[in-house]
Amino acid sequence: MTNNIPPVTSLKCITCAKEYNSQELDYTCPACGPMRGTLEVLYDYDRIAEELTREALQRNRDFSHWRYLPMLPVSCKQFIQPLAVGWTPVYQNEKMAAQLGIKKLWIKDDGRNPSASYKDRASSVAVVKALEKKAKTITAASTGNAASSLAAFTAVAGLETIIFVPHDAPKAKLTQLLLFGAKVLRVQGTYDDAFDLCCAAAEKWGWYNRSTAINPYLGEGKKTGAFEICEQLDWQVPDYVFVAVGDGCIFQSLWKGFKEFHRIGLIERTPKLIGVQAEGASPLAQAFAVGANKARPVESSTFADSIAVGVPRDQIKALKAVRECGGQFIAVSDDEIKKAISQLAGKTGVLAEPAGATGMAGLMKMAQNNEIKADETIVVLVTGNGLKDIDGVMQASERQAVLVEKSIARLNIEILNV
Ligand SMILES: *Cc1c(COP(=O)(O)O)cnc(C)c1O
Repeated sequence: MTNNIPPVTSLKCITCAKEYNSQELDYTCPACGPMRGTLEVLYDYDRIAEELTREALQRNRDFSHWRYLPMLPVSCKQFIQPLAVGWTPVYQNEKMAAQLGIKKLWIKDDGRNPSASYKDRASSVAVVKALEKKAKTITAASTGNAASSLAAFTAVAGLETIIFVPHDAPKAKLTQLLLFGAKVLRVQGTYDDAFDLCCAAAEKWGWYNRSTAINPYLGEGKKTGAFEICEQLDWQVPDYVFVAVGDGCIFQSLWKGFKEFHRIGLIERTPKLIGVQAEGASPLAQAFAVGANKARPVESSTFADSIAVGVPRDQIKALKAVRECGGQFIAVSDDEIKKAISQLAGKTGVLAEPAGATGMAGLMKMAQNNEIKADETIVVLVTGNGLKDIDGVMQASERQAVLVEKSIARLNIEILNV
C-alpha cells in the first residue's frame, strides 16, 4: 500500500480557531460541537503552489476533478474509485446572455456527473476518507442526491451504506439508491429530521458519517467546481457565479476553492458568489438580509426537494463566505424556478432538476431587476439533472404531447399550432 504524505496540515475550528491534527479528529470540534464546531481543512499552500501551476495543469491528462489532487485531502490514492467525477462541461450561451442583457454567460452542467448531481464531487472524497479510516459502514442523511451519489461510489468500493432520506424523496433518487445497493431508511419527517436521526445512529453504531458540515472533507470535493471554472474559462475569472443553496456546503466550498486558487497565485481576482434559495426554504437569504451570522430555522416548503432545508447545516461557513466574497443570498419563488427550468432546457439544451435550475432563476431575477451590469460575465452552475425528478420538472412544462392516429391521411398538422 502506497501512502503518500497527506497534504492536509490541520483541521481548524471555525468558531474557536483551535487547530487539530487530521489523524486525531474526524468530524467537529469537541469544544464547540456540531454546527459551530465545523472544521476547515488547511493545507501547506506554499508547497502546493510549486506543484499546482498553470503549466502543470495544462499538461495534466486527467480530465476529472482528481487533476487537483495536490489540493485534495487524499492520503491513499488507491482508494479513489474509478467513476469519472468532475470536469463537467461549460457551455457559453449568447442567446440567453443577450436576452438577459449581460456580456457573457456560461452554464456549467454538473448534472453530467456519474450519479447526475454536484454531490458526486463530495462523495468521491468521502469514500476515500472512509476507506482510509478502515470503515466498514458509511451513512448519510440526504434529501436524495448526496445519498444516491454516495451509494454509487460505495457500490464500486464495496462499503456497506445506510441512508436516511425524507419519506417523500423523489422516485428516481430512491431507485438509484436501491439499485446501487444501499440500505434505505425513509424517515417519517423532513430532511432536517433525517439529518438528526442519521447523526445519532452514526454515533451509536460507530458508522462513518458523510453528513454535511459534520464531515469536513465534503467541501474539499465540492470546491473543485471553482477550480474547474477558473481553468475552463482560461483563467478569466467571471464577475459572478450563481448557485442553488440548501445547507450552504456547495456555496462555502466554491468560495474556499476560489480563495485557494487565489492564494497559490493561479488567479488574480475572485468572483462574487450569489447563493439562491427557494422562498419556501430560505433561512440563509433571511439571515443575510438582516445581517445575522446565524440562520433562524424554518419549516421548509418548496418543490425543489434538494434545497428543501429548514436548518442549513453549513450556515456558519456559508454566511462568512457570502460576506467575504461580496456576494449575496437571495430567494426565488417556485414559479421562478419553473421558468428557469424551461428557459435552460429550451435555450441551452440542459435539463435541470428544480434545485439544479435555481441558480439560473436567481440570475433571471437579478437581471430583470437591473442588478447585473451589461459588461459583467456570469457562470451559472446547474447542480443536478432533470431526470432525477421528472414529476417536479414536468411542472415547468406548459405544453403537452399531442396524441394522433397512425394515418397520414388523418394527420392534421394545424393541431401543432394550438
Ligand atoms: C445538495 C444540492 C444543492 C445544495 O447544496 P448545499 O450544499 O446543500 O447548499 C443544490 N442543488 C442540488 C441539485 C443538490 O443536490
